[in-house]
Amino acid sequence: MTPFPRRVPCGTSDGMSDSPKNVDTPAIRFADRVNRIAPSPTVAISSLALDLRAAGRDVIGLATGEPDFPTPPHVCDAAMRAIRDGHTRYTQVDGIPELKAAIIRKFERENGITFTPENISVGTGGKQVLFNALMATVQEGDEVVIPAPYWVSFAGIVEVAGGTPVYVTSGFADGLKMTADSLAAAITPRTRWVIINSPSNPTGMGYSAAELRALADVIRPHEQVMVISDDLYEHLTYDGFAFHTLAALAPDMAGRILTLNGVSKSYCMTGWRIGFAAAPAPLVRAMAKLQSQSTSCPNSIAQHAAIAALDGPTDFIADNNAAFARRRGRVLAALNAMEGISCPAPDGAFYVFADISGLIGKKRPDGKVIETDSDFAAALLEQGDVAVVPGVAFGLSPAFRISFATADDALDTALDRIASVVASLV
Ligand code: PLP
Repeated sequence: MTPFPRRVPCGTSDGMSDSPKNVDTPAIRFADRVNRIAPSPTVAISSLALDLRAAGRDVIGLATGEPDFPTPPHVCDAAMRAIRDGHTRYTQVDGIPELKAAIIRKFERENGITFTPENISVGTGGKQVLFNALMATVQEGDEVVIPAPYWVSFAGIVEVAGGTPVYVTSGFADGLKMTADSLAAAITPRTRWVIINSPSNPTGMGYSAAELRALADVIRPHEQVMVISDDLYEHLTYDGFAFHTLAALAPDMAGRILTLNGVSKSYCMTGWRIGFAAAPAPLVRAMAKLQSQSTSCPNSIAQHAAIAALDGPTDFIADNNAAFARRRGRVLAALNAMEGISCPAPDGAFYVFADISGLIGKKRPDGKVIETDSDFAAALLEQGDVAVVPGVAFGLSPAFRISFATADDALDTALDRIASVVASLV
């Protein structure tokens, strides 16, 4: 089994994994909604790296999008206090009032936008909040505009909901960012949502205030279109990049914007599974209805920890970012020194997205030709014991994504190994 997708992402049988298929047992018949999606390729590749390591291979995984730093001690203390104080039961469906209040304070303090508790939805990670929003609003025939390269779950969740992802693809020459003109060309009467993710997973590119205003100007006249602003990487920025969120720049569109955020990335809390959104109250109520029939509520202890994260000291974020910035510099210098690879500097997040058009057509020492970015990722894994995600998984080829949220030593070794694999291609 290869984990590397060969065709368009998020399709059905892409050969990358064991998607359930209808099988001989008459009792097991899978619903169309599960047959039409593939498991997340980034998760599949990270799992493969773990399996190979468990089997004794010295594989370095650069596929996972999570900080390698520990959750700050004051957050862990708050969780332990919550357990001792008996906060171990079901809570309100979409978040305890104290956490909603902390989220409202966060939006006011950091983004200058005002919400009431009726606007706030808390879920089991930003991914569940996004899932609830799309499942509550998207159905057969509806289109969702997704700038490509994109985070794999945007497309996957739209497809689960029965909608159609409409990709607006920006290449390396366009700076990997959607322009107002390309967005305008993608909107149709069937468009329900436009997704904006800044800084972006997988490219790290961020939109300036002027670029966001230009996108808002395109969306504004289409009254049936709502916007998801995915701000998960808000605090992870470099070189003085100024983060902006759409709801602050286009207050007249407040009734049409869902601002998505969470504690996973900025607060090193991926496993705690707390994400949140601010959105119009009727949408928040519909999302809560879905959540009441799925997970009942987010984890009670993690909600208390999230309050400590949002209200507590944030100096550790600057320390983490300084480490990320150093690694980003090392990765950019190393990759850009390799013949056939070119890699723009990301504004934020902890990813670099590299163009490998210069490697296509080259041959491995075993004679296999690198025809696609999946072939290149396979070469890195087989020859170099390094796991990366090929661009095809994110909707732009030939490219690959490296997460530099990896310990310095491992990252340096991985870069040396990538250099050796690239040097071995003729
Ligand atoms: N949005 C983006 C762009 C992401 O990269 C991720 C996680 O990788 C999420 C949302 C969801 O994160 P979580 O569910 O951990 O809050």
